[in-house]
Amino acid sequence: MTPYDAPSPRAPALIDGFGRTVTYLRVSVTDRCDLRCVYCMAEHMTFLPKAEVLTLEELDRIASGFVGLGVRKLRITGGEPLVRKGVMGLIESLSRHLHTGALEELTLTTNGTRLAEFASDLARFGIRRINVSMDTLKPDLFRKLTRGGDLSKVIGGIDAALAAGIAVKVNAVALKDDNAAELPDLITWAHARGCDMTLIEAMPLGEIEVDRTDQFLSLKDVRRTLESFWTLEDSDHVTGGPARYVRVAETGGRLGFITPLSHNFCEACNRVRLTCTGTLHTCLGREDASDLRAVLRAGGTDADLIDAIRLAVDAKPQGHDFQIVRSSAPAVARHMSTTGG
Ligand code: SAM
Ligand code: SF4
Repeated sequence: MTPYDAPSPRAPALIDGFGRTVTYLRVSVTDRCDLRCVYCMAEHMTFLPKAEVLTLEELDRIASGFVGLGVRKLRITGGEPLVRKGVMGLIESLSRHLHTGALEELTLTTNGTRLAEFASDLARFGIRRINVSMDTLKPDLFRKLTRGGDLSKVIGGIDAALAAGIAVKVNAVALKDDNAAELPDLITWAHARGCDMTLIEAMPLGEIEVDRTDQFLSLKDVRRTLESFWTLEDSDHVTGGPARYVRVAETGGRLGFITPLSHNFCEACNRVRLTCTGTLHTCLGREDASDLRAVLRAGGTDADLIDAIRLAVDAKPQGHDFQIVRSSAPAVARHMSTTGG
């Protein structure tokens, strides 16, 4: 692919209408996935026609445009990013911004099923840390939650990443009936491997077959339970994201809580998201959208692209107000797999 060179890093920063500087872009490279997690996707998903999905060159061009506007951290996500054909070429190409120092971090969120295959290349391309999603250590429950996934592949992927020198953060969605009782074991397992762990509250994104009120588990309650037998020490580790971190004294590991429903995190939000179709969402919990693909496919210049990005960021909403209400429609119709988690 032809690497697109980011505009001068001296371009003015991306600052929204509420004074927040955008320094973090998540890029979804595909809506497809080899798993069908029950809280994320319907069993029979209709995926996007290929023509609607950005090419690797278009993804590179938009991501590099953001880097030129001061974005310091890029996270590649999906869908499952490692099922996108050619994704390693994109990652290798984007790693040029690490070499120039324009980018501080290039990272990835993955379900881990193909990680064993790609871990050493990821390390070679400058990836230092990744997030791997894994909600349980029980093979049968994993198969049920992912509708057919093989847990041993994910564990093999985590081990391969660690062996390649990549730090792994394990992410788990807290689900009332499925993994609530197992969360201490999962945290202990991650910390024993030297991995950070983050718990996520189920968010109302996209229509799925089950009622989310049946799955929802407040992390306030989880925290209270953990505090009945562990010492959770407040940590000043901040990412500008929704996670709040503690250190578990007994395991020596870091534990994050992502609580969009019981705690609002919008004041410090520094991130925007690009879908695999080139739609820029400046807020995960709102329907706001700007079509950057249209700019590229209409033959737009780099200046046109930058104008469109600035216009979108300027209108970034102040915040969201997610609620999980029984039988109500999801707050946002698009799935997490389209927006990019
Ligand atoms: N396929 C990759 C993975 O699973 O890590 C990357 C994309 S996935 C959409 C990113 C993260 O979003 C995962 O940790 C997943 O558990 C989380 N996720 C998906 N749907 C969610 C929902 N409705 N509420 C909360 N988290 C969700
Ligand atoms: Fe796939 Fe990730 Fe969604 Fe699970 S959470 S279905 S792995 S995109």
